[in-house]
Amino acid sequence: ENIGLHEIRSRFLEFFREKEHFVQKSYPLVPKNDKSLLLINAGMAPLKPYFLGTEEPPSKRMATSQKCVRTGDIENVGKTARHATFFEMLGSFSFGDYFKKEAIAWAWEFMTEKMGIPVEDLWVSVYLEDDEAFNIWNRDVGVSSHRIVRLGKEDNFWELEVGPCGPCSEIYIDRGAEYGCSNPDCKPGCDCDRYIEVWNLVFSQYDKDENGNYNLLEKPNIDTGMGLERIAAVLQKTDNIFEIDVMKSLISWVESRSGKTYKRDEKEGLSFRVIADHIRAVTFLVGDGVIPSNEGRGYVLRRLIRRASRHGKLLGINENFLKDLVAEVIESWKVEYDELVEKQSQIVKIVEIEEEKFQETIDQGIDILDGYMEDMVSNGQTELSGEKSFKLYDTYGFPLDLTKEILEEKGYSVDEAGFSSEMEAQRDRARKAREEADTAGWNKEGKADFSLDTEVEFKGYDSLSIESRV
Ligand code: ATP
Ligand code: MG
Ligand code: MG
Ligand code: MG
Repeated sequence: ENIGLHEIRSRFLEFFREKEHFVQKSYPLVPKNDKSLLLINAGMAPLKPYFLGTEEPPSKRMATSQKCVRTGDIENVGKTARHATFFEMLGSFSFGDYFKKEAIAWAWEFMTEKMGIPVEDLWVSVYLEDDEAFNIWNRDVGVSSHRIVRLGKEDNFWELEVGPCGPCSEIYIDRGAEYGCSNPDCKPGCDCDRYIEVWNLVFSQYDKDENGNYNLLEKPNIDTGMGLERIAAVLQKTDNIFEIDVMKSLISWVESRSGKTYKRDEKEGLSFRVIADHIRAVTFLVGDGVIPSNEGRGYVLRRLIRRASRHGKLLGINENFLKDLVAEVIESWKVEYDELVEKQSQIVKIVEIEEEKFQETIDQGIDILDGYMEDMVSNGQTELSGEKSFKLYDTYGFPLDLTKEILEEKGYSVDEAGFSSEMEAQRDRARKAREEADTAGWNKEGKADFSLDTEVEFKGYDSLSIESRV
């Protein structure tokens, strides 16, 4: 059945409402009173106080479709079939109420009965030592043992730096051998896109403290998360998450603006997907009060805008276009996020100013690079130093790939290893600064702060956000 993204969300929430879950609208992307996190990156993140028992939940059972941003996945965007920077995580939660048995049975019921996914396409994984989960899948649910894989800590033990965590169990969908890789051991957990991980069920039974101790929680919790775009891609049988109903319209928009046709496998196909992904993240981030800056969340936003703009140029769109694409995102998502409509003109304005600034950056960077190249000629060098290329990147926001491209046209190169070690040093500084993170972006009422003249005083870079080039 070809179900649209918004319909899948509704069915998921309805399913859990029927199982007595309190359905909560997505929390903002900016975490509230949580210094450990730059942006909400999972459905459980805004619910931490309920898991820890420091606040009383509205119900012992909840369900959400939570807006998430994962800057750590930015380099994967458009390359893998399944990674977006912004996505929605469908989640069901139990705060010391039901546990593994119910969580597993309901996940299976939803996938097979409500979504109609054939049993023979489904695989599950459990944590190496979790025989309890293995037995529930195998004996109670009836999944044959050769479709249950045991995975280690990196895949099947869910944890943030601190907070609730525990072993997990994942549901994968086998999309068929044509998506497979050359690894003879290709199975769920393989990094290719054949077995696509759609749902992660976390049996959170510990609270990890700053010193890395796992303290057993008095009452174990359930925290599940399923990527909305991923399940949509599976049900709509698209190659990747950027070709599902709501994303496709963004791709079409870029097609008509650039005059180019989207072809999945070409290098340009990647640019289409990156733009569609980033503009959606940008729209939601600005909608939740994030403003471009050189630090923290603002830097994540700046980087997404610049990257999208850069990919627009690669497609031959030379004038600023992102502000117009914002409207397209809002049109597609306003059924669930009508607050975006109210904020539309502000979002457009912020994106427009930032894209213009980027244009200036490019002009300025080219001037500086011209100067560097003159020096190179007079010194008889053919390679630009890591220090200079990093300075261009870090101080002037000039993307490394652009530096490379311009140099290559003249037969020169960049010391990329030198660039990386500069980056490494920067990352160390950032890691320290991050510890001082505060909760700017929230106003006194606990709402996302949207006022244009408030500088986001977020100290510290997201260590992930600067690790890769714009
Ligand atoms: P993967 O191994 O594919 O990177 P993950 O193990 O990092 O996924 P989890 O942290 O378990 O993902 O998050 C729960 C669910 O959220 C995943 O099963 C997936 O459906 C979805 N999800 C995670 N990261 C992304 C992303 N970058 N884009 C879209 N959906 C995602
Ligand atoms: Mg991941
Ligand atoms: Mg995984
Ligand atoms: Mg996972």
